[in-house]
Amino acid sequence: MDVTTDNLSFSPRPIEAVGLRAGEGAAVLVAMPSIQRATALRAYNAFSSGRDWMERLSSAYVVSLATRSADKYLMQQIQNCIVEDPAISCKKCREATFGTNVIRSRLFPKLAALREHANALIHHLDNPKNRGIAELNVQGVFDYCYHLFHENAELLFGWSPEGSFPHMKCKECRAKNVEGQ
Ligand SMILES: [Zn+2]
Repeated sequence: MDVTTDNLSFSPRPIEAVGLRAGEGAAVLVAMPSIQRATALRAYNAFSSGRDWMERLSSAYVVSLATRSADKYLMQQIQNCIVEDPAISCKKCREATFGTNVIRSRLFPKLAALREHANALIHHLDNPKNRGIAELNVQGVFDYCYHLFHENAELLFGWSPEGSFPHMKCKECRAKNVEGQ
């Protein structure tokens, strides 16, 4: 198989992997979510020593999956802290107002943009009909991982940014409103 692997020849920036942090008093804070984080960082660090393009690509795949999963988990943690006032009864409206995708794009636009590289890589590799990897932004996947675990390390220890989420209506509820007017 003829493969262009130019997009696999880069060295990911080192991530400062602090897994534990002192909390209040005797408490110790553990970076969450620990399994996804450990899996992502391990693959991230293994990338440069990959023996061939397939090993490198498989590291990139694991980085994509584990980072995406950690990202989703952290967005859900933020979501759980949002106080709903007034309560939104429609499930789809809640999703449109503060679903994890909304939280990410509103509070972490760079993370949302970088996540697209992981999505593209996973979709591409999951379809056996796809050939070659020339169009994949593999470095973007590693930037995504770096951005989450290094540049947003505070999130791993439970920090949550302030944000406001104006009430959005889902398609169905919008349609209902129009009819009612
Ligand atoms: Zn609705």
